[in-house]
Amino acid sequence: MEWYRIEDLGNGVYAFIDVDGGWFRSNSVVVDMGGYTLLIDTQYNGPRTRSLLEAIDSLGLPQPSLVVNTHHHGDHTFGNHLIKAPKIMHRKAAERLEALAPIAPGLYQQLFPHLDFTDSKYTRPEVVVDNGILIQGERGTARVTYEGPAHTVGDLVVWLDWARIAVVGDLVFNGVTPLAIDGSVAAWEERLRSLRERLEGWTIIGGHGPPAGVEVVDLLSKYFRHILGATRMLAEEGLEDPLEIALKATPGPLQGWREEERLVLNVARALMDLQGRPPGEPMGDLPGLATKLVEYRRRVGTRA
Ligand SMILES: [Zn+2]
Repeated sequence: MEWYRIEDLGNGVYAFIDVDGGWFRSNSVVVDMGGYTLLIDTQYNGPRTRSLLEAIDSLGLPQPSLVVNTHHHGDHTFGNHLIKAPKIMHRKAAERLEALAPIAPGLYQQLFPHLDFTDSKYTRPEVVVDNGILIQGERGTARVTYEGPAHTVGDLVVWLDWARIAVVGDLVFNGVTPLAIDGSVAAWEERLRSLRERLEGWTIIGGHGPPAGVEVVDLLSKYFRHILGATRMLAEEGLEDPLEIALKATPGPLQGWREEERLVLNVARALMDLQGRPPGEPMGDLPGLATKLVEYRRRVGTRA
């Protein structure tokens, strides 16, 4: 079985929705710009990226002439080196890539032994942007904007105006618990609030899970506010351990979404937010947090 299902959203937009959506299993979007193909996000390994390129062939579209990476995470960039086209990324995403290149994907293979990191590689993008860029085609203009720190410190949004479709990368998760480890819970919530009005009536394609409407933005906002509120309250009561806080807080509005245990990492980031630490500041003791995550899963009994 293929890892994706293609959702033909009309107006030349094909969403490759990962049928699982878990760790390193992300979506890509193929846009027929009229005469050339724009690809938004590659996949985490060679086999998945190659099957994506084959599917582009079978859709009758030319191979991508341009790639936008919504952010630096490996599940959106590791296949970049297999595509002979310029890659566009936010400057801060490119900086993160440079920093991670020496240790990843080897480190991830250790952390996720069941995943296949064949032909996974960080490569430097040809184009970096600060505030955004316009990509023109026969069908219309794809507006690429930077909204500020959220899921990471270098998230881009691609607005396909003619189709009223926004490809928002990991600013939106749907059915899969979001992960704020490389960004900020507070800043992400703020971003979603600022995007909400502009996304009203649009189809939103996030990085994990099926396309949705603006209601998913409301749900995510609620989750982040819930985490911030509960973390603040429990910290004031003297709790310091992200695992203990997460177990008491519960996922609240996202109860039932998969990878619930990410709550532990989100609480750890919320604690940093509450201390006034900047978005994206590296988290200390990742191995310790990973152990707590496993422990949360054991205590709550969520699926792996
Ligand atoms: Zn991500």
